Amino acid sequence: IIEVSGLVKRHGALEVLKGLDLTVARGEVATIIGPSGSGKSTFLRCLNGLEAFQAGAVVVDGLRVEAGDPAAVRNRTLRQVCRRAGMVFQSFNLFAHMTVLENVIEAPRCVLGLAREPAVERARRLLERVGMGDRLDALPRHLSGGQQQRVAIARALAMEPPVMLFDEPTSALDPKMTGEVLAVMSDLAGDGLTMVVVTHAMHFARRVSTTVHVFGDGRVVESGPPGRIFDDPRHEATRTLLSQVL
Ligand code: ATP
Ligand code: MG
Repeated sequence: IIEVSGLVKRHGALEVLKGLDLTVARGEVATIIGPSGSGKSTFLRCLNGLEAFQAGAVVVDGLRVEAGDPAAVRNRTLRQVCRRAGMVFQSFNLFAHMTVLENVIEAPRCVLGLAREPAVERARRLLERVGMGDRLDALPRHLSGGQQQRVAIARALAMEPPVMLFDEPTSALDPKMTGEVLAVMSDLAGDGLTMVVVTHAMHFARRVSTTVHVFGDGRVVESGPPGRIFDDPRHEATRTLLSQVL
């Protein structure tokens, strides 16, 4: 469902992604681990069209974006790509002046043109699913970080994207809240949702992911099932990384 080939991304003279290849099949949970600055967030942003790139191609759910595409074509396609991949950030990014319910119905109403009633119906169902069904009228600032992140997950799901991208969704949370959020993510994975998760939560990566991709210096240094990566890391960079986090 995701196919990235030869992806090159530069910020001025700094080459952040150096010809990266990565494939994710439908229904897979792909986790990405790697040192700070290895390009994990940049990669997710290229995947969902938040960032343009200099070479290579990205295919998400059949929609192909190439670095060589003319800007007009690329911009139009990037907007479509954006709707194919829901994104959850480390910092929640909820609309501060809107209630929980309003946060979740906003995009389906404005982007998909859904009428209020079906949008509310969908939002209630999703908020129920992430354990926030009793806080529909709360404002984000009255919620814990874990609660806000679960609302952010419901908000992304409300667009019914075929792929969900998570960028360190629990790294701003304490262990209890982290557990709540990871439980919701495990639940989604169990339902067969395709997910790409950048995380430092190694127990989650080991338990939930189908494939672990290790990033190092703008490339994927190794990929494999979690048991193989954690118990028998073959690349020096993976060993170094695991010795730091475990
Ligand atoms: P972390 O684990 O700390 O989140 P990361 O793997 O997500 O790291 P990125 O955020 O993708 O890393 O950044 C990769 C590199 O690109 C870093 O060296 C960063 O400084 C650089 N970078 C990212 N965004 C920009 C930008 N807008 N302009 C210039 N350099 C940038
Ligand atoms: Mg990052």
